[in-house]
Amino acid sequence: MVLLVSGRCSTGCFYCPLSLEKKGKDVLFANERRCSSDEEIIEEARMIGAEGTGITGGDPLACLDRTLHFIRLLKKEFGRRHHIHLYTSSLDVQAFCQLEEAGLDELRLHPPLERWGDLDGKELQEFITRTNMKVGLEIPALPGEEDRTERLIDFAEDAGMDFVNLNELEFSEGNWDQLQKRGLEVRDDTSGAVKGSEEAALRRLGRKRAVSMHYCSSRFKDSVQLRRRIKRRARRVARTTDIITDEGTLIKGVVEGPMDEIIHHLQEKFGVPDNMLFKDMEKKRVEVAPWVLKQIADQLPFASFLVEEYPTADRLEVEREPLRPR
Ligand code: SF4
Repeated sequence: MVLLVSGRCSTGCFYCPLSLEKKGKDVLFANERRCSSDEEIIEEARMIGAEGTGITGGDPLACLDRTLHFIRLLKKEFGRRHHIHLYTSSLDVQAFCQLEEAGLDELRLHPPLERWGDLDGKELQEFITRTNMKVGLEIPALPGEEDRTERLIDFAEDAGMDFVNLNELEFSEGNWDQLQKRGLEVRDDTSGAVKGSEEAALRRLGRKRAVSMHYCSSRFKDSVQLRRRIKRRARRVARTTDIITDEGTLIKGVVEGPMDEIIHHLQEKFGVPDNMLFKDMEKKRVEVAPWVLKQIADQLPFASFLVEEYPTADRLEVEREPLRPR
C-alpha cells in the first residue's frame, strides 16, 4: 500500500511529482483513497492484501507524530512481517531513531538536490553503522546532474548504505512547468518519461560499486507495480455482477434512471435474479451483469452501457459503450 501521510513538504524540489490535489495540502491518502480515519487505512490495506506499506508525502517527517502513529498502527494490525519503508528528504538522525523505535523497516533518503554534491554526513554515517533498518538512497535520474548524482552515490557507498534506487524522471501535472523551464522534454508520444533520464541512470549503473544499485523505469512502475496492485484489489472488490479484465479493470453493465423503477422492471419483465443486480448508491445507478444486460438492453426503456472502470477507491471510469443510446 502507498500511504501518503501529508502533502506538506518544505524542500521544494523542482522535479516534485506530487499532483496538485496533494502538493502542499495536509491530506491523507491510502493508495487512491482519501482517508480521514485509521479504520479507512486498514480497510484499504486489506482490500489489496497489502504485505507492506510505503509511507510517503510530502515529507512524512514534516508530521513526525502522525507518521509514528501510522507505523505503530500498521505493525499492530498486520504484525512485524508487514514491511514498512519510508521516503524522506530529511537527514534528521534523531527522528530516524524514533522511526526505528516505532517499527520502521527501511529508510529511503532523497536529500535536497543542493546537498547532493557535498553531503556532510558524519552523524548520518554513524547512524547507518548502528541501525538495524535498511537505509538507502532513492532519487530521480536527472539529466544534466550527473556529477552531483555521482558524488551522492559515492557518499552512499562510503557510508555503507544498503542500496541506491534510481528512478526514471517523469513529467506530471505537478512538475510540468518546472521541467519545461529547464528545457527537459518527454521521451516520446506514448509516455511521460523525461528524455535522457534513462540514459543517465544506466550510465550510473554501468560502474562497479560496493553499494547495490537498482533502476526503476516508468514502464516498470506502470506496467508491473501498478498493475499488480490493481489486480489484487480487483479480486477483492469485484461483485458477482462484474467481469475482471486481464489488466485488472472491471467491466460493469450499467443502467441509468430511477433506480427502484429499473430494478422492478428488470425483475418483473425479465426475471433478472437478485445476484445479477446491484443498486449502486454511490454512483446512483443500477449495475447488471454485463452478459445479462447485453441480452436485454434493446428492450429496456432506460439508457444502458458497458462501463470499464478501475477497481481503485476513486473508481476511475476509462471507457463507456452505449448499449441503448438515450
Ligand atoms: S522532498 Fe519529495 S515531496 Fe518534498 S518537494 Fe521534494 S519530491 Fe516533493
